[in-house]
Amino acid sequence: MFEKSKELYSEAVKLMPGGVNSPARAFKSVGEHPLFIDHAEGARLYDVDGNSYIDYCLSFGPLILGHSDEKVVREVTQATVRGTSFGAPTQLENEMAELVIDRVPSVEMVRMVSSGTEATLAALRLARGYTGRNKILKFEGCYHGHSDSLLIKAGSGVATLGLPDSPGVPEGTAKNTITVPYNDIDSLTEAFNHFGDDIAAVILEPVAGNMGVVPPEEGYLESVREMTEENGTLLIFDEVMTGFRVGYNCAQGHFNVTPDITCLGKVIGGGLPVGAYGGKKEIMEHIAPAGDIYQAGTLSGNPLAMTAGLHTLKQLTEESYQYFKKLGDMLEDGLTEIFKDYGYPITINRAGSMIGFFLTDQDVVDFESANTSDLALFKALYQELLKEGVYLPPSQFEGMFLSTKHTEADIQDTLNAFRNALARIKE
Ligand code: PLP
Repeated sequence: MFEKSKELYSEAVKLMPGGVNSPARAFKSVGEHPLFIDHAEGARLYDVDGNSYIDYCLSFGPLILGHSDEKVVREVTQATVRGTSFGAPTQLENEMAELVIDRVPSVEMVRMVSSGTEATLAALRLARGYTGRNKILKFEGCYHGHSDSLLIKAGSGVATLGLPDSPGVPEGTAKNTITVPYNDIDSLTEAFNHFGDDIAAVILEPVAGNMGVVPPEEGYLESVREMTEENGTLLIFDEVMTGFRVGYNCAQGHFNVTPDITCLGKVIGGGLPVGAYGGKKEIMEHIAPAGDIYQAGTLSGNPLAMTAGLHTLKQLTEESYQYFKKLGDMLEDGLTEIFKDYGYPITINRAGSMIGFFLTDQDVVDFESANTSDLALFKALYQELLKEGVYLPPSQFEGMFLSTKHTEADIQDTLNAFRNALARIKE
């Protein structure tokens, strides 16, 4: 069933480290080899062996309109003919900036970059430059890209690979990153008591999506906001994953908590390489050339990426999020019933179009509780689901993503797939 993928992978490992260009794709925790993809359309992914799958990975989040959305493809095709990069300003960049400023409550001014990693890296430099402080505080299990000071107790691929501190991150850099558990206000208070006047920024995913999906507990974001304000620390929401996935006005609109700086990526690039960071004008104007904190990029604001992003964001409406809720309810109710029928534990966490399930009977509120999930069962389930035509993100520590192209029939087929998969595992 997967012969050609297997063949291509054995070639790929000779050519690229681990056969891939990003670690989470290698299927290390869920199988022997990844699937090689031929093409995709709507909510469907087609591999090189001719198998098709309902896709809940969606390129790890960006494709909120599903694959090859007609409008996005048409607009990007036309933009390509006009020129792929100019290294000079375009009207498109103004339009994108206006739209982001309009939709994201904390953003008065924005800078486009080319990846989420770049966005968080630049946001931290800005916070350090602005406050004149050195330390940053992040949360265990939150992932903010692979820059040195953030690759500490990260989630996602790093958690799966068991590399919480990557070799190559200098000790001196790691020393300036404080980590505390997510959803634990006492630990945060303690950290502020110790280091308060040297913490430039607290950075967090307002819904953690890189240890599976872990929403903030009631009042948590408000407390973090209060504490950062009291200590003269900037609050950075990394909405690279949650931006336009948790709600029409991102997670900050949904929870009504406004950070100082917001990082974006994934959805705002509509499947092309994009990141962005923005915030209060007074802070953003410290970035070069308006100010003296340096950050630049040859392909920043790239016309193809701006086009894909703009035509993705323009198609999202308040109704899109009601639709995600409807599909999410259906999936949650169905999974709860199926797992009960087969006597396996499941805990489901959701936020907008992000859905995470953990194979545990514990509430999952942080990285420690996320790790109570039965990883061997997840691996077995993952493999059986592939045979059933369902493609999940290839790790327990990634959430499932919905798109506007997923249908109720897809959800029903997915639930049937889970039932068949669990029946075979139980045999
Ligand atoms: N921040 C968060 C919350 C992410 O989920 C990711 C990627 O998964 C990043 C930052 C890094 O983004 P990129 O992979 O585009 O560099």
